[in-house]
Amino acid sequence: MKKMNTLLENAAQRAGTYLDNLSSRPVAPTPEAVSRLAAFDYPLQNDPLNPAEVLRELDEIGSPATIASAGPRFFGFVIGGSLPVALAANWLAGAWDQNSALYNVTPGTAAIEQVALHWLLDVLRLPGECAGAFVTGTTVANFTALAAARHAALEKAGWNVEADGLFGAPPLEVIVSAEAHPTLLKAIAMLGMGRDRAIRVPTDKNGAMRADALPALSERSIVCVQAGNINTGAFDPLPEICTAARKAGAWVHVDGAFGLWAAASPSLARLAEGIDHADSWATDCHKWLNVPYDSGVAFVRDTNALRAAMSITADYLPTASEYRNPADFTPELSRRARGVEVWAALRALGRSGIADLIERTCRYARRFASAMSSAGYEVLNEIVLNQVLVSFGSPDTTRQIVSDIQADGTCWCGSTVWQGKTAMRISVVSWATTESDVDRSIEAILRIAQSSKKKHANGS
Ligand SMILES: *Cc1c(COP(=O)(O)O)cnc(C)c1O
Repeated sequence: MKKMNTLLENAAQRAGTYLDNLSSRPVAPTPEAVSRLAAFDYPLQNDPLNPAEVLRELDEIGSPATIASAGPRFFGFVIGGSLPVALAANWLAGAWDQNSALYNVTPGTAAIEQVALHWLLDVLRLPGECAGAFVTGTTVANFTALAAARHAALEKAGWNVEADGLFGAPPLEVIVSAEAHPTLLKAIAMLGMGRDRAIRVPTDKNGAMRADALPALSERSIVCVQAGNINTGAFDPLPEICTAARKAGAWVHVDGAFGLWAAASPSLARLAEGIDHADSWATDCHKWLNVPYDSGVAFVRDTNALRAAMSITADYLPTASEYRNPADFTPELSRRARGVEVWAALRALGRSGIADLIERTCRYARRFASAMSSAGYEVLNEIVLNQVLVSFGSPDTTRQIVSDIQADGTCWCGSTVWQGKTAMRISVVSWATTESDVDRSIEAILRIAQSSKKKHANGS
């Protein structure tokens, strides 16, 4: 055991040094660090190697080639870092190595995950009776929840989709926003419901679905709404859509990968108003809750629909009607206990800590936006949450400036195309970001944008 301790301390030492240095290194890995990855390119040797040596190689070649997304000035995508407590819990749960499929076999992690689920429902203001599943991310959470929706809609039509498949089944009608996240369409495709068959509802100029453009709904309809547009942060009009769906007996699914977390903040909860009237929800904990990847969660109001879509039975698998077997609710059987990190993050932050994390990052997004517009650059979206879209002029200019910002290394922002306009996207999601990180990043962005403008003016 002594040896094990030494190795883990070695790993902790290396990880600690890595994290401590994140704030002072360039956010994007340097081209030199990336080219040194070639050192990994050799055939596997025949003999075992000392674990400490393995770790050393990983750290010396691997660490410098990472992007500092765990650090305070990474604003790409919507991904955030890891809270120290979540990372630490991830290590401990990794040491436990529990296959969290069955309560009777892994009661500890099954119970902790159940508590985490209840806390999530509470924090996100979702109905307490929901069933839940810890999955890899929102892609799979969408898949899981929509499998339950598919089950329920076809069951009403007298069809058992798990037993009989989709060949010959009554058709369902899936309705999505024109601004649906591509992974939602992938989930629809994986479920055999056809991504091109989905009816796309037009949106307003901030990317929210237009409730007045919703087609007529029926018991065969599954309406997929969005809480938090990936570009603008916009929320679809949940109360109107849920009311129309309820009347028709349709299912409403919410893709709330990050936006669902608005509900955890008293000052932003109005954005998520009506969300509890939906039937299923998907979210990520590796985004705004800042736990390590992979950590998505699906919630489904109708426990039986989710269980029918996901459960398996086999003679060698102990079933327990008095317990919740996590595997009855997830696509996976074997899986790591990702809910443990979620538990740890929630426990460490408490309600006020979660609200503060969400509100603070949204405040920083507004700080970015006002600095950009004060400097004369166009902010393309209404800042409702943590997302900011900035245009520096023509598509080429914007793309060039984004690429210069990434190469400069003070911070990292990505690019996107929003309603035909090329933009830089700033997503503020990390617990580690401070106001001075925001100001340092603003300074760098403006310095780079202005020097590019001069270059253009000089025709060079
Ligand atoms: C990130 C995101 C997804 C996909 O989540 P993964 O965890 O990457 O699978 C889906 N929908 C929205 C709105 C997102 O922001």
